[in-house]
Amino acid sequence: MRGLVLASILIFSVQQAPFDPEPGISETLSRDRAARVSNLRYDLAFTIPAARAEAISGRALIRFALKSVDGPLVLDYQPDKAGFLRAVEANGRETKVRQVNGHIIVPADALHAGDNAVALDFNAGDVPLNRSEDFLYTIFVPARAHQAFPCFDQPDLKARWSLALDVPEGWQAVGNGAEISRETDGGRTRVRLTGTEPVSTYLFAFAAGKFSVEQAERNGRTFRMFHRETDAAKVARNRDAIFDLHAGALAWLENYTGIPYPFGKFDFVLIPAFQFGGMEHPGAIFYNANGLLLDESATQDQMLGRASVISHETAHMWFGDLVTMQWFSDVWMKEVFANHMAAKIVNPAFPAMNHDLRYLVDYYPAAYGVDRTAGTNEIRQPLKNLNEAGTLYGAIIYQKAPIVMRQLETLVGSDGFRDGLRDYLKKYSYGNATWPDLIAILDSRTPEDLASWSHTWVEERGRPVIRTELSLSDGKISRLAFTQRDPFASRGLTWNQRFKVAVGGANTTLVPVQLKSARVEVPEARGLPADFVLANGGGIAYGEIHLDPASLKWLAANLPSIHDELTRGSAWITLWDAVLDGEVKPDTFLALAMRALDTETNELIVSRVLSYVREDFWRYSTPAARTAIAPRLENVLRHGLDTAQASSLKSVWFSALRDVSQTRPTLDWLTRVWRQEENVPGLKLAETDYIRLAQELAVRDGTSSAAQILDQQYERIQNPDRKAQFKFVRPALSADAKERELWFSSLLDASNRRREPWVLDGLRYLHHPLRAAASQQYLQTSLVLLKEIQRTGDIFFPKRWMDATLSGYQTPEAAAVVRQFLDTLPVDYPERLRRIVLSSSDDLFRAGRIVKP
Ligand SMILES: [Zn+2]
Repeated sequence: MRGLVLASILIFSVQQAPFDPEPGISETLSRDRAARVSNLRYDLAFTIPAARAEAISGRALIRFALKSVDGPLVLDYQPDKAGFLRAVEANGRETKVRQVNGHIIVPADALHAGDNAVALDFNAGDVPLNRSEDFLYTIFVPARAHQAFPCFDQPDLKARWSLALDVPEGWQAVGNGAEISRETDGGRTRVRLTGTEPVSTYLFAFAAGKFSVEQAERNGRTFRMFHRETDAAKVARNRDAIFDLHAGALAWLENYTGIPYPFGKFDFVLIPAFQFGGMEHPGAIFYNANGLLLDESATQDQMLGRASVISHETAHMWFGDLVTMQWFSDVWMKEVFANHMAAKIVNPAFPAMNHDLRYLVDYYPAAYGVDRTAGTNEIRQPLKNLNEAGTLYGAIIYQKAPIVMRQLETLVGSDGFRDGLRDYLKKYSYGNATWPDLIAILDSRTPEDLASWSHTWVEERGRPVIRTELSLSDGKISRLAFTQRDPFASRGLTWNQRFKVAVGGANTTLVPVQLKSARVEVPEARGLPADFVLANGGGIAYGEIHLDPASLKWLAANLPSIHDELTRGSAWITLWDAVLDGEVKPDTFLALAMRALDTETNELIVSRVLSYVREDFWRYSTPAARTAIAPRLENVLRHGLDTAQASSLKSVWFSALRDVSQTRPTLDWLTRVWRQEENVPGLKLAETDYIRLAQELAVRDGTSSAAQILDQQYERIQNPDRKAQFKFVRPALSADAKERELWFSSLLDASNRRREPWVLDGLRYLHHPLRAAASQQYLQTSLVLLKEIQRTGDIFFPKRWMDATLSGYQTPEAAAVVRQFLDTLPVDYPERLRRIVLSSSDDLFRAGRIVKP
């Protein structure tokens, strides 16, 4: 009812005096339009010049039905300086419009109830078109289409899109619809694409430019892969696997959902330095080329990562594209389903893999990385305006939500879960839905109270603090209980979850528990022999899990002796939490890790432990402690590298050694490897490996030989896109403080921040722990800049900017800069940005408490 009252006030003010919508796409504007506009179609045409500096001209014919003409109609159009509006014709007549706050206001007298057609001639805004010298590609998520062309930029006004692209001869063009015609004359090629099924603006996309095209048939369907890779052998090595993975994912999803692929043709585009891993445009998925075209030295993790990202984007064709969230507050839904489905799809393709362990190491550490901090957020966050949508994305959506979704599937049962999803996809096909719409469908399939479960897990932030109460007598359990409490005391929430507790020593058994109140006894565990008890031994429990003193003591000494891989992996994650909570000393952990690494052969565990070793070494060890431990640590890593069997595992060891290397003999050896005077037996390094190695060597050696290495590396790079990135990052690595200063200052101009992966790459070296003392001066400005970055950057950039900026620091002085910034924020500072700072600085603040000089 409140919405209705509000709407009539708006209409009244429109009639009395021009009503100006606020900047961005507000929830109010979007609700109002969704109620009035239907049957939407766009016919779009763009003329793309060969020169990047020249403007792209465009024409949009927008056809739609209006329920009634209650006032003017608001279109969205907010281009950068490259774009402007030339002419508007509404229903065949030239029409004067007003442009205000990034909107076009079409007057009521130019419209009528029923069918309308508005044609607009314009120059396109450049920002979301990602223009390079000889190619461009769009990214319109979450609401950036209107930064290029006029439209209704909200997810629940789905439209059928027709597209014509006029491009320089020799360019390829690809979009959501299938190509229906292509003509070339006078040095120009005109490509027309068919109209699409109903698709949201954030999913509309095209790419054009110099691309190579690979084509393949699978299961009677044609797949096309557009790419810019110059290494033909690399393409040949990867292409079949990439097509197979897409075809396999597609077949699996058609079977699981009971709905055939909903969008006709299937192309994908591999883009160098793409902002994300992938973006799920129907019919034209865009990927980061690095994630799909793997090097020969690719790790098992990278191969799994590739299968996962392909399955993830393919799953989006149903979850997100066919049924779309009504509003971006539910953006997490499409992400969690894509991840959840990806896990189900990828598993059978890697039969040798322990998938429960992989689920654990993929999701828990990253989810905990945000959820343990004061800056954590709810999975489902309210959102007043789409111009804040970028701050919704992060580990809580991508890593915590899948864990929560698995809990939901456990509660509902896997058949009921699948059938509920089928109902949901069928009911809302080519339309929009909310999380409560889905919960209502699933709730009817289980005796559990899903609404209240959903409130705690989905609508509230944080994780339960779970404590273990263990009494032993003669090495056997006489009593075991778990308690939980809310880390935010004022709420007093309880989390309902089922999990499996590991009980034992080197050999363990799993005991099922349902923790749904403040305290639960586990009588089933009575009498079992136990050296330790681990709530998450079965890889399912989620929370800040505190071990009882006996278990903590045993694990801190004997963790590597646990036979079960899943329980062993989980014990590492829990023990690292204990380090961060001050219950285990960082040097104790490092010593245990080094001992374990001598014998550990499971690649997932080796990889996870090596990540903790890096964090422990750089963040939680003093420079003096690092120097003391370096010879022994490097020996352990070198030994791991030498004895590893698989080249993927060798690559994991080699990366770790490269990242922590600091003794002269190791640096000399790495330099010889970089010069290609010496091989790493069993490991073939690729161009990207040599680039990274050159950069790591340079940051360690602030002398002229570092400059020489960088010069030579630049000459050696064959691939033009990698060469350009290297050139961009190089000043951030310079031994000359002045040059680094200039590089950082250049970032104050938003146009120099466009290549976000390049910027992050540079920031990690600028703020490298070895450069921290010299670079601390940039922290203040970087913090202040966050607000602008939220406005100008793509969705992941604010958090990644902050993470990269704070990644290298551990001192109280650096913490004080952040603390001071947080303490003096104005009252109207966006809460989400404040939380980003809190979450990115969590490790820095912990270091202040944990690191003892
Ligand atoms: Zn996704």
